Amino acid sequence: MRVVVIGAGSAGLAALRHCAEDLKRSKENEKIEDGRVSDVVCYERCDKIGGTWVYTEETGIDKYGLPIHSSMYDSLRTNLPKEVMGYPDFQYDVETSKSYLTRTEILEFLERYCDHFRVRQYIHFLHNVELVEPTLRGENAKKWKVTVKNLKDGSTRTEHFDAVMVCNGHYFQPYLPVIEGRKEFKGKQLHSHDYRVPEVFADKTVVVVGAGPSGMDLTLEISKKARKVILSHHNRSPIATVFPENVYQLPDIKKLTEKEVEFTNNTREEADVIFYCTGYKYSFPFLSPRCGVRVDDNMVTPLWKHLISTENPTLALIGLPFYVCAFSMFDLQVRFVLKYWTGKKTLPSKEIMLAEETQEFEKKKKQGLEKRHFHMMGPEQGPYFDDLANTAGLTPLPPVLAKLHNESSMRFLDDLVHYREDRYKILDDFNFVQL
Ligand SMILES: Cc1cc2nc3c(=O)[nH]c(=O)nc-3n(C[C@H](O)[C@H](O)[C@H](O)COP(=O)(O)OP(=O)(O)OC[C@H]3O[C@@H](n4cnc5c(N)ncnc54)[C@H](O)[C@@H]3O)c2cc1C
Repeated sequence: MRVVVIGAGSAGLAALRHCAEDLKRSKENEKIEDGRVSDVVCYERCDKIGGTWVYTEETGIDKYGLPIHSSMYDSLRTNLPKEVMGYPDFQYDVETSKSYLTRTEILEFLERYCDHFRVRQYIHFLHNVELVEPTLRGENAKKWKVTVKNLKDGSTRTEHFDAVMVCNGHYFQPYLPVIEGRKEFKGKQLHSHDYRVPEVFADKTVVVVGAGPSGMDLTLEISKKARKVILSHHNRSPIATVFPENVYQLPDIKKLTEKEVEFTNNTREEADVIFYCTGYKYSFPFLSPRCGVRVDDNMVTPLWKHLISTENPTLALIGLPFYVCAFSMFDLQVRFVLKYWTGKKTLPSKEIMLAEETQEFEKKKKQGLEKRHFHMMGPEQGPYFDDLANTAGLTPLPPVLAKLHNESSMRFLDDLVHYREDRYKILDDFNFVQL
């Protein structure tokens, strides 16, 4: 089985590591058996591994004419402790006493992972995947046709594969809400994807739109430079955390005029900058419609277990669920997919896979969630991980991960200013302590 991995961020590295292990087993057995990975190739459009964790001052379009992928900003420290940001069998240096690391430390960790599992050899850097489509009947024995552009020399070629793991991330295509008067507003408008350093807000009045993790974090960060920060959100009650004195909370924006922002409670404020911390859209610009996966109001569908295409099960999308222990989940998802692709487990019928997706969707609808929340996990991540492990007969993720993730999320909401000073230690698969 010839596998292509699209992207060498933390998901793509996990995919490569497990494909490479299977490949090694195939080679040790000398003859390649059916149902084993016989070859793996990774295409990465940047010149480095790490995806989101690669910081660049650049924004907009790069020198190859492609949109800048990373949304990383200079001063970022993780919003999760390192104790839940490792891979199941590859952890951070325990000598590092703090729990919340810098972006550089995460990138160093990924570099170490890449070297430890010797997966760099499979990565073709500066190769942008432009099109993935199923082969036509009789065209090739392999199922997938992948068109890739070598960014160094501009040449394009087509390769054939039996299976595709999409690991292109989902924090690069900004979501911008529709707001009346957006075109009339004469000040600056910026999405968090293009934010790098707080100096751009020096002495300005900034309206931050959205109080998700990045809206909260960035409100705090820019309040050190801005004159006044208005955090506009639609949470039912004001956020309880103690913000610096120059931060105010107001409800949603009703409309923008040339200089002013009008909020839904009819308050009006003059503002210099509208800073959209409104999240991202799932985007797979290289998947042809014939792949059978679409994005519907930010729900990627139809997929079995947020992961495997029900139309073409040799297509898997790694890493869609959010508010999770991401790197561990990537590892589990990859192990899950390979169990089926290598024939160690048999997929249920398409009808059953679709019915499971519908059932989960209906359940979430009853909880008041919308389509765009379908891949949101949070407290649901533990049951999701267990379901993957139980269904495919895999070593599960230790429950302590989801437990500590939830604790850290609570602390984030309670004490945004200080929660990163917390330090944790994992005692066993079920317990952690705060040091
Ligand atoms: C500002 C910010 C802060 C975050 N903080 C945290 C945190 O504290 N803790 C946490 O766990 N998570 C955090 N996250 C989430 C983070 O994105 C995930 O943890 C994880 O790094 C995502 O990995 P990924 O491999 O799925 O995607 P990415 O890291 O985005 O990697 C995708 C890779 O695919 C490549 N690619 C894309 N399209 C193509 C193509 N067509 N052809 C070839 N290559 C392609 C990209 O160049 C990139 O290298 C944060 C995200 C952001 C944006």
